[in-house]
Amino acid sequence: MITVVGGGFAGVEAAWGAAERGSKVRLYEMRPQRMTPAHKTGLLAELVCSNSFKSKAPTSPAGQLKAEMVGLGSLVIPLGEEHSVPGGEALCVDRDRFASAVTERIDQHPNIDLVREEFRPGDHDGPLVVATGPLTSPDLSAWLASLTGREHLYFYDAVSPVVDASTLDPSIVFAQSRYDKGGDDYLNCPFDKDKYEAFVHALVTAERAPIHDFEAEGDQSVPLEDRLLAKINYFAGCTPIEAIADKGARSLAFGNFKPVGLTDPRTGRRPYAALQLRPENREKSLYSLVACQTRLKWGEQKRVFRMVPGLAQAEFVRLGVIHRNTYIEAPRVLGQNLELRQHPGIYVAGQLTGVEGYVESAAMGIYAGIMAHRADRGLPPEPPPRASAFGSLLAHLQDATPRDFAPMNINWGLFPEPSETTRDKGVRRAAQLEAARKAFDGWRARLG
Ligand SMILES: Cc1cc2nc3c(=O)[nH]c(=O)nc-3n(C[C@H](O)[C@H](O)[C@H](O)COP(=O)(O)OP(=O)(O)OC[C@H]3O[C@@H](n4cnc5c(N)ncnc54)[C@H](O)[C@@H]3O)c2cc1C
Repeated sequence: MITVVGGGFAGVEAAWGAAERGSKVRLYEMRPQRMTPAHKTGLLAELVCSNSFKSKAPTSPAGQLKAEMVGLGSLVIPLGEEHSVPGGEALCVDRDRFASAVTERIDQHPNIDLVREEFRPGDHDGPLVVATGPLTSPDLSAWLASLTGREHLYFYDAVSPVVDASTLDPSIVFAQSRYDKGGDDYLNCPFDKDKYEAFVHALVTAERAPIHDFEAEGDQSVPLEDRLLAKINYFAGCTPIEAIADKGARSLAFGNFKPVGLTDPRTGRRPYAALQLRPENREKSLYSLVACQTRLKWGEQKRVFRMVPGLAQAEFVRLGVIHRNTYIEAPRVLGQNLELRQHPGIYVAGQLTGVEGYVESAAMGIYAGIMAHRADRGLPPEPPPRASAFGSLLAHLQDATPRDFAPMNINWGLFPEPSETTRDKGVRRAAQLEAARKAFDGWRARLG
C-alpha cells in the first residue's frame, strides 16, 4: 500500500499515477476539516490563485512539460483541457468544475482510498509520498524538518529574478570577480551615476505586490508591512531590494550594488555601482540577480530591472517573490527519484521539492507516484533523461551548484544546450525541443 499525503496538484497526480499502474493507494487530505490559510474549499486540486496552467503552445517549455505529463497518464492536464475557459495563449480553467472533476475521479478510483484527515506521521505502511505543498500544516512541517534537518527546510521563499544568459548584452555585461579573485563566475552590470539614479527612482516608485494576512501573522498593532519585513528577515535572512532603496538614494551603491574591486573593461575605471549576476546552474545558462529579492509586481520587475545596463533585452525566466512557502533544499536531501536520501521509502512531491506552480508541482507528483509504485513492485527507479522536460526540472532539483536554492518553474534555461551551439534563439530552441521529445519517448518506453 502506498500512502500519499496532500490532495493538491502533486498528491492527486501521485495517487492517480500509482493507482492507474495497479498499486493500492491511501490518499490523505486534511481539508475541509482543517483548512490552509489560502484554500477556500474541500475540493482536491484547488487552484488557490490564478486559473492558468501556462502556455498552450506545444513549442513552449510549459507545452512540452504538459505533453510529457499527458504521455505518462496525467489526471489534471486532460481535465484542465476539458474544463478550459478562454485564456488566449494560456490554458485557463474553470476552477470549480475542474477541481470537482478531479475530486470525483479520485473518489471513484477503485485503487484509491481517500481519507479526509490530517496525516499523522507513523500512519503508514509501505512507500510514503509527502505532497503537502507550500502551506504544509505546522505539525507535518516540524516532522519534515526533523527528517531533513531544520536548516534544509524553508518557510519563506525569497527569490531574486533570474534571466536567460543568452539574452544579456555582451557589449555591456562583463565577467569578473571582485579584485580578480575567484575566477569569472560572476557577471557584472556596470551603472554610471545617471543610470543608477534613474534605476533607484523607478525602483522605489514601482508598484509592490499586496501582502496576504497569513504571510505576516503576529502582533496586530504592528503595521502589516513591518510585520512582513520582520518575518522575511527572520526566516529568509534578507530585506527586499526596494525596502533597502527606500532608506536613501545611495543605499544600494554602498550595499547590494557596491562596485569595490571591479573594473569596467570598457572604461578601465570602477563603475559607479554594479549589479552582479550569479550562475544558477552548472551550464551557466541561467543567472540570478544577486541581492535583488523583491516584492514588486511582476510587470513592474521587468520594467525596472530592464533599466539595468546590459539587461535591456533580458528575458526573465523567473521573477522575484518573497512569500510564505514551505520547501526543502532538494540538492542536499533528495535523491534522483525524489526519495529522501537519509530516509528510504519516503518520497517528496510537488512544490515541496523546489519547483513552482500548479503544472510543475503536478509533474513532480506524477514522477513521485511512479517512483513509489516501482519501489512497491520491487522495480528499480528509472529517472527521466536529462533532455526531457521532466529531466530538466529534475536537473534543477539535483544541481549542487553553490547558490541560494529557490523554487523554479519550467523554462528554456533548464533544458540542456543543444550540441551545435548557435546564437539564433529559434534554431537553438527547436533543437532543444526535438531532443526533449526524442528523449521522452525513449523514457516512456522504458517505464512501460
Ligand atoms: C497564496 C498562493 C498563491 C499562489 N498562486 C499561484 C498561481 O497563481 N499560479 C501557480 O501556478 N501557482 C500558484 N501558487 C503555487 C501553487 O499553489 C502550487 O504550485 C501548487 O498548488 C502546489 O501543488 P502541491 O500539490 O505541491 O500543493 P497544494 O496544491 O497546496 O496541495 C497540498 C495539499 O496538502 C494538504 N495538506 C497540507 N498538510 C496536510 C496534512 N498534514 N495532512 C493532510 N493534508 C495536508 C493541503 O490541504 C493541500 O490540499 C500559489 C501558492 C500560494 C500559497
